[in-house]
Amino acid sequence: MAPEGDGDGGVVVTARVLRTGEAVEVAGDLLVAADGCTSAIRRRFLPELKLRYSGYCAWRGVFDFTGKEGCTTMVDIRRAYPELGNCLYFDLAYKTHAVLYELPKNRLNWLWYINGDEPELMGSSVTMKVSEATVSEMKEEAERVWCPELARLIGETAEPFVNVIYDAEPLPGLSWAGGRVALVGDAAHPTTPHGLRSTNMSIVDARVLGCCLARWGDGDAEPTSTPRRALAEYEAARRPVVAAQVLHARRLGRLKQGLGMGSTGDGEGFDSRTATEEEISQLRQSSMPYFSGAPTIE
Ligand SMILES: Cc1cc2nc3c(=O)[nH]c(=O)nc-3n(C[C@H](O)[C@H](O)[C@H](O)COP(=O)(O)OP(=O)(O)OC[C@H]3O[C@@H](n4cnc5c(N)ncnc54)[C@H](O)[C@@H]3O)c2cc1C
Repeated sequence: MAPEGDGDGGVVVTARVLRTGEAVEVAGDLLVAADGCTSAIRRRFLPELKLRYSGYCAWRGVFDFTGKEGCTTMVDIRRAYPELGNCLYFDLAYKTHAVLYELPKNRLNWLWYINGDEPELMGSSVTMKVSEATVSEMKEEAERVWCPELARLIGETAEPFVNVIYDAEPLPGLSWAGGRVALVGDAAHPTTPHGLRSTNMSIVDARVLGCCLARWGDGDAEPTSTPRRALAEYEAARRPVVAAQVLHARRLGRLKQGLGMGSTGDGEGFDSRTATEEEISQLRQSSMPYFSGAPTIE
């Protein structure tokens, strides 16, 4: 995908149709890049920007208990985690943590973060397929680390997979090409997931961008200057918020993974057995900046 100015204040995107291989040109007033954390559109404007490996990957799985509510695994997990369905559970162990919560349609979602060297990615996806041998090792390790109920759930989940966890330093801008290209969502702020609001961040970006465009579109502003002014307002509203949230999520992840908090990742890591009250209070989700709402420009 290659966005170019069209010389007339608009933008032209050249895209390849994957099914046919054909290249097509699409002209418009504004290109909204919502193409995720490895955004090809962002790369065009920020070719030097590198994703920053967090120091850990997440094992993930979804356990489908349709028709199995009475099985031992489900009965035991509901006994061990009685508020499933009402909350997210975080389990902390030494230099690792897990998250467990219920999804609609009879499913339990679990994530287990494991420290290690950065794996080599194939292509632009941050999701990796893993061999059966690696899955078996992970399941054995779960039995050593987690309570028997969670370890059994992990062991019985079909097709667990791995996400490599990245974020990026806050971007110098969310608007490019003279106000003709806007970045939203993970394209605008690759983030580790520990703030539990990455999707909300994307949704708020879209809402604020829409409000800014509507406001400038309604007024007497010259139509050609509308996107530039709207995008300047969008950037001013969202950039400080998403920058603070990305950096906070990074810190939260390092705390939960027992990794050093120094600027280069050095220093003593958090240890739940010896943590101070202050360190423990930092683990609260409500310490996320703009926890009770970010400006929406409405
Ligand atoms: C381990 C993990 C746990 C998470 N947990 C949570 C959580 O608890 N709560 C939460 O809110 N968020 C969570 N997230 C984050 C959440 O998944 C993302 O923040 C959210 O999906 C970002 O939305 P997006 O639309 O910006 O990007 P994406 O969801 O990545 O969507 C981008 C889309 O663009 C498409 N695309 C990319 N390139 C092209 C192209 N060239 N042409 C056409 N299409 C293209 C992709 O196929 C994709 O469909 C988690 C993420 C991870 C990795």
